[in-house]
Amino acid sequence: MQAAKNSINTVKSIDCRHFINGEFLNPNQSKTFDNINPATEEILGWVAEGGKEEVNQAVSAARHALKGPWKSFTDNERSAVLRRIGDLILEKKEELTMLETLDTGKPYSLALEMDIKRSAHNFHFFADYITTLGNESFNQNNIALHYSIRRPVGVVGMINPWNLPLLLLTWKLAPCLAAGNTAVMKPAELTPMTATKLMEICKEAGVPDGVVNLVHGYGVNSAGAALSEHPDVDAITFTGETKTGTAIMKAAAPTLKKISFELGGKNPNIVFADSNLDEVIETTLKSSFMNQGEVCLCGSRIYVQQELYDEFLEKMVARTKKLKVGDPFDSETEVGAVIGKEHYKKVMTYIDLAREEGARILTGGRRAGQFEKGFFIEPTIIAGVTSESRCVREEIFGPVVTVMPFETEEEVLEHANDTHYGLGATIWTNHLRRAHRVASKIEAGIIWVNTWYLRDLRTPFGGMKHSGIGREGGSHSFEFYSELSNVTIKL
Ligand code: NAD
Repeated sequence: MQAAKNSINTVKSIDCRHFINGEFLNPNQSKTFDNINPATEEILGWVAEGGKEEVNQAVSAARHALKGPWKSFTDNERSAVLRRIGDLILEKKEELTMLETLDTGKPYSLALEMDIKRSAHNFHFFADYITTLGNESFNQNNIALHYSIRRPVGVVGMINPWNLPLLLLTWKLAPCLAAGNTAVMKPAELTPMTATKLMEICKEAGVPDGVVNLVHGYGVNSAGAALSEHPDVDAITFTGETKTGTAIMKAAAPTLKKISFELGGKNPNIVFADSNLDEVIETTLKSSFMNQGEVCLCGSRIYVQQELYDEFLEKMVARTKKLKVGDPFDSETEVGAVIGKEHYKKVMTYIDLAREEGARILTGGRRAGQFEKGFFIEPTIIAGVTSESRCVREEIFGPVVTVMPFETEEEVLEHANDTHYGLGATIWTNHLRRAHRVASKIEAGIIWVNTWYLRDLRTPFGGMKHSGIGREGGSHSFEFYSELSNVTIKL
């Protein structure tokens, strides 16, 4: 496999500059911070640290660009630019995959398939979608004709997390551009490289100056906060932790920005006794440990019906022990490093807490990997926890799952919904009526039956309760990235 050729020592990283009004800016070197590789703890390069000043410049460029050549691009012309960006991402997929792997510590093979190819697909999908999008019209009994006009919202601020850096940024940027807006992006401080590279690609694809802008930096008292409160930003789309969502909502409130939030999750994975166990195990390995468990949709609370409980644990533990954890550039690696030191400590604290509470660590629970350095954690399965345990209630966002038995459908529904979160859920059953019944009662925005992570970009994506506000995907994205006006003509 290709990844094996790229030894971890020969891959080139990049320094990360702000990109404003079509140009990369050389920062004052006192305003930079180090970018660390979580798999080696080595410094990859520097990242410009932006704040109010840089955000002001970027927002002003984005506002100005709304009135520039971008304004007169037709739907077909915007579609062509988006298609070109998607094509260029594919042309440069090896470099982008290396940068994503270095920044995140995830396996190269996963970064290629999940992050980079899906990022290209985000652009290709919205390039097509914009050319088929119609407007509503209603004939009111031949008294009046009503129709809607769609126009851009304006300047959109985008604040992103580190777990799927380019994938989530392009999930926002593609529909934002398709709808004719301009953007100011703030990638996560821990994963700045692919966003920087994307700016080069946008320029090469013919995006006019000022339409896309990138400011690096932190969140609190930094670029993220400055963007959230900026009076000239019309909308904010944010993916990240629930408590950060609260802070951004407060900052955006005085200027009544439109918001779209994709937040945290603590998703139930419910296994009924009538399901096909081998299929359950193979998919549950992914829904538990893919991307080191650092996916908002991971099913971190596993509930298994009593009759199947022992067999499930036996098979799941055996398969988990075989997962290969280590060098992200080794083509056989299935689980890489978690994102950084702080996060490593946070995940380990939850494992220690489970031990203190008397839970059983069935496998994992320790540092992993063949290297002295790097933030590697063994995929961990915890049993014997109560519903009150913090490991069951709080988002760990690492390679850690809890497993609990249940007897009845009513009981498991109560457990599944006993959380402030409402992002995803997985149901395993071959009982047709039960599948529909349980799906309709689970409080989550994204529900899978007998599968996980299967996505069609036309469908609504987002969470309920404390897992989000609004939906994106297909027409739902255009609801957010457009303003609609209704025109009524008396007939
Ligand atoms: P985070 O909330 O710590 O940071 C996300 C971004 O917000 C970063 O760019 C950060 O700099 C910025 N930020 C932090 N504080 C800010 C503030 N006060 N004002 C403005 N910006 C601020 O999240 P994270 O640790 O990067 O990502 C992990 C979280 O993201 C998890 O909770 C995960 O569930 C969630 N997530 C959700 C989805 C989804 O689709 N619902 C997808 C991926 C990740």
